[in-house]
Amino acid sequence: MESVDVIVVGAGVVGLAVAAKLSKAYPQVLIVDQNIHFGEETSSRNSEVIHAGIYYPDNSLKAKLCVKGKKLLYQYCQQRHIPHEKMGKLLVANGESEEADLASILTQAQRNGVTDLVWQSKSQLERSTPALRASLALLSPSTGIIDVHSYMQSLLADAESMGASFVGQTTLISAQANSKGFKVLLNSQGENITLQCALLINCAGLHAGKVAESIEGMLKRHIPAIHYCRGHYFSYQGKSPFKQLIYPVPSAHGLGIHASLNIAGQLKFGPDTQYIDHIDYQVSPALKAKFVTAITKYFPGLDENKLQPDYAGIRPKLQAENGALEDFAIQSATVHGLSGLVNLFGIDSPGLTSSLAIAEHVADLIDAQVS
Ligand SMILES: Cc1cc2nc3c(=O)[nH]c(=O)nc-3n(C[C@H](O)[C@H](O)[C@H](O)COP(=O)(O)OP(=O)(O)OC[C@H]3O[C@@H](n4cnc5c(N)ncnc54)[C@H](O)[C@@H]3O)c2cc1C
Repeated sequence: MESVDVIVVGAGVVGLAVAAKLSKAYPQVLIVDQNIHFGEETSSRNSEVIHAGIYYPDNSLKAKLCVKGKKLLYQYCQQRHIPHEKMGKLLVANGESEEADLASILTQAQRNGVTDLVWQSKSQLERSTPALRASLALLSPSTGIIDVHSYMQSLLADAESMGASFVGQTTLISAQANSKGFKVLLNSQGENITLQCALLINCAGLHAGKVAESIEGMLKRHIPAIHYCRGHYFSYQGKSPFKQLIYPVPSAHGLGIHASLNIAGQLKFGPDTQYIDHIDYQVSPALKAKFVTAITKYFPGLDENKLQPDYAGIRPKLQAENGALEDFAIQSATVHGLSGLVNLFGIDSPGLTSSLAIAEHVADLIDAQVS
């Protein structure tokens, strides 16, 4: 049986960041993905926003890894010439109740170490962003956008330059713990292959629960339910009336239907939130009415004819539809007892922003096990 040091299951932005990090310490890192190419699932179906780290609860992994990840990601983008833009975002309120929400958001941001938010008055906004309707806003100067595909390509190139390899159309079927780590059964383009690895990292996104279930010895009580929460986007044809990202106050499951730009300057609105029970990326044109209602609250000049159904992404949420907020769950042997295994569950937003910090966190968990 052939052996490698590390198998990373899943070549999304998180799996690739973890592989790039671990390949500095381990010469043989194998990244497998069930799809042909890297990043075909959630990592290519998101808002491409580098978040500041504003909303997440005190001391949560989301707060810590987002704030650290943002810094690492901007540095990485500069070093590797990844298209990105720190354009800032306006978090907008209309009316007293939403203004009070902004005040609480500001307090939470400061507790998370995000200390650069600045108030924008109605008259300042009328001058800077005439298309916007808002009674008050918070400007987050450190929020930005990134070309996620270029970022993933660069992470893979980094990993490969240090000896890692990526194999697509290769699915983890099962794994058994043994004295040297794990015996892993993969199906690669219809052919079953057994490989030994010392470290097994489960970065399977929407399928991380299924992958964990296929690892012998993983107790059911350590495998959280993953809820699928779809977010739809509508694109807006023509020139964007906004130079910055525009966010309403957040909703229960997401950040609200916001306006974001991609690196090419295309304006889009979304995502909303819809819990679903199977993977399905359809965007129903019937959602348009809901989008128009949400958007016109802060963009009254919206031309409905320019709004077209675009794409959808699915958040792998640990938070149930009527449940409490949940953090990322990154488990090593101290939780599940299987030495050499790290499971990453519930890596929804801000997983992209946090990816480099998540990779460092995973490496630290492994170092703590090894030493
Ligand atoms: C609508 C939406 C908007 C978002 N917006 C933002 C944002 O603006 N900013 C931000 O920071 N975050 C955002 N996020 C979150 C971010 O997109 C995710 O946190 C991130 O992409 C997760 O990456 P991942 O690598 O964990 O998962 P994925 O990209 O889903 O990768 C998992 C991979 O595992 C593979 N896989 C699964 N099972 C197996 C198996 N058995 N064998 C082999 N391979 C397998 C899959 O094929 C897949 O490629 C958003 C998410 C959504 C859904």
